[in-house]
Amino acid sequence: MELADLHVHTTASDGTVKPSEIVKKAIEGGLKAVAITDHDTIDGIEEAYNEALKYKHFTLVPGIEISTTFEGQEVHVLGYFIDYNDANLIKKLQELKQQREIRGKKIIQKLEKMGIYISMEKLKNIVGNGTIGRPHIAQALVNSGYSKDVQMAFDKYLIKGSPAYVPRQKLLPSEAIDLIKKAKGITVLAHPIFLKDKEQILRVLNFGFDGIEVEYPNHSNEFRGWLNKVAKKLGLIGTGGSDFHGEIKAVELGDSTVEFKVVKKLLQLKGEKFK
Ligand code: AMP
Ligand code: ZN
Ligand code: FE
Ligand code: FE
Repeated sequence: MELADLHVHTTASDGTVKPSEIVKKAIEGGLKAVAITDHDTIDGIEEAYNEALKYKHFTLVPGIEISTTFEGQEVHVLGYFIDYNDANLIKKLQELKQQREIRGKKIIQKLEKMGIYISMEKLKNIVGNGTIGRPHIAQALVNSGYSKDVQMAFDKYLIKGSPAYVPRQKLLPSEAIDLIKKAKGITVLAHPIFLKDKEQILRVLNFGFDGIEVEYPNHSNEFRGWLNKVAKKLGLIGTGGSDFHGEIKAVELGDSTVEFKVVKKLLQLKGEKFK
């Protein structure tokens, strides 16, 4: 069977593996396709794409995962086969990157008030060319000996309700969908398991997604069964992926996959929608 992992992060956001290395790793692991879906950035796509060109039978899906807020809950919107040269998309992502920078500084200031000192310089070293996310700050806390591991840093300082938590700029799911559609991409609701309940998932789907992420490491058999039923009823494409981040998360590339025919379906839908 030909398999695709359609949810992967790189060093362009908060992953620890370079885009080109992701492609090599995917091929070594026998995958037929991967989608690069970095948080709020498309900066990793070109490098991955150039690497993928070396392999005739491998497909690189240009994607993104945009963070939004709905009913006070984090909702992540995946975009597939986006036109990553779209000027409107590039401009908006630039803004989001700047806002993440400001937020990163705010979190550092909050930590300072608690007697925890992480310099912006240290953080920048970890972020590299990426866009600042809480995983980077968690890593900085670990490196400086304030936490044993990334998860503990999150639980103690960074999750919602904890002392150094700072929310991101609030984008609505509809705004993310708009942005992706304007860039001729296919919209998919990411990891629905992280929403409050099934009713909330159905409410979010009213925004008009093209697909829903069915295969995901945290999804039980029962939950996937329900998602497949919903997808069928609403005419959504069921996608899936591992949400691989490299070392910072206990998930391997290819831990969740879908058949390659899902990639074809996404492309076909793109063709129909944006003739
Ligand atoms: P940010 O976009 O900066 O708010 O960071 C979000 C990222 O942090 C997610 O994509 C996850 O990889 C990670 N994350 C969010 N919540 C947690 C948590 N409770 N424990 C560990 N990692 C988390
Ligand atoms: Zn992440
Ligand atoms: Fe996500
Ligand atoms: Fe993700």
